[in-house]
Amino acid sequence: MEFKPANNIQDLQYFGEFGGVNPSISDSSTYTFLSAKTMFDTFEGNADGCYLYSRHSSPSNLYLGQALAAMEGTETANVTASGMGAISSVILQLCGNGDHLVSSRTIYGGTYAFLKNFTPRMGIETSFVDITNLASVESAITKDTKMIFCESVSNPLLEVADLRGLALLAKKHNLKLVVDNTFSPLSISPFMLGADIVIHSLTKFINGSSDTVGGVVCGEQKFIDALRNVNDGACMLLGPTMDSLRAASILKNLRTLHIRMQQHSKNTLYLAQKFEADGLKTVYPGLSSHPSHRLFKSMMNEQYGYGGMLTVDVGNLDKANELMELMQKRNLGYLAVSLGFYKTLFSAPGSSTSSEIPEDEQKAMGLSNGLIRFSIGLDADIERTYEMMKDCMKELNVL
Ligand code: PLP
Repeated sequence: MEFKPANNIQDLQYFGEFGGVNPSISDSSTYTFLSAKTMFDTFEGNADGCYLYSRHSSPSNLYLGQALAAMEGTETANVTASGMGAISSVILQLCGNGDHLVSSRTIYGGTYAFLKNFTPRMGIETSFVDITNLASVESAITKDTKMIFCESVSNPLLEVADLRGLALLAKKHNLKLVVDNTFSPLSISPFMLGADIVIHSLTKFINGSSDTVGGVVCGEQKFIDALRNVNDGACMLLGPTMDSLRAASILKNLRTLHIRMQQHSKNTLYLAQKFEADGLKTVYPGLSSHPSHRLFKSMMNEQYGYGGMLTVDVGNLDKANELMELMQKRNLGYLAVSLGFYKTLFSAPGSSTSSEIPEDEQKAMGLSNGLIRFSIGLDADIERTYEMMKDCMKELNVL
């Protein structure tokens, strides 16, 4: 049966403490017990439904986690204070001294820096590979490998991972496939394609208001319980805890995600087709010229489209900067990192969100410094936006 992630969110029913249509916000860091024995049992993990302390869990965080788990089709989920809080906790939960992981080389710069510079201090080594080449992924696996890490659609190059193929490899070698699905919520459902753990930065499309950072780990109950374990759980002990007030506000925004993603995707496809027809070097998974267009199509939940991210290469950084400044001046979007806002956001990843990746490695992965990454907004009149962007490009001889 077709997997319908937005229906799963819609089908949840919560009432507030006084019959409110939104769940009540748990405005407490700690919880009382009627008996000392129940407190002890809760510490031991044996008192289901009891709350202990909000770094462990809170009702508001559980509501949001439940909705995100429903969206991804996993048993449960744990929300975190940021996407990096989710990523670092999962990696440190699964890998320890002497372990190895295989990661896509085109990933968000912060994740890259964590794997390249931080985890080696703990004896965790990473091989960075071309994730679109399953043979090179497999050949990087060693006896110490514990996980394969990738983004469904990579930041910033928009490479698409073959999640079914990677899941088979992970299974064959007894590894966990961990997928960051930040760029393609609703469009791609990694768990349904065989991933073990799905991560999001909620900061982006899912919250959609650019007013907070947040993250989530979706997976099996056993793994999420392990993350929250009071003795050795990374989320419990490293403390990347989301505040309850934020969880409540993200839950409210999540309810419009399906409508927003459709509009992001529609606008982005329109612009990508126009830019490409104008002769600009345009990358968007929805274009048939994208090397993984068919792969994306074979994995997607069709009604949400190919997502809200596209890139255009304008040749060099100076040109990219000039163009972004002019587009901001004309109020076509903001020169800002991040994504998933109602307004278009653009940045040159080589000198911003991917600047943690050394220049020679950027070159090897095909990240040129004239690349502009666009997160296309919810513009009501995308035809007008295109005409205005085209004017900017013509003025600067980009077109
Ligand atoms: N994953 C991806 C694909 C991202 O683009 C980002 C941030 O840009 C992150 C993870 C990190 O998320 P956060 O900034 O919420 O920690």
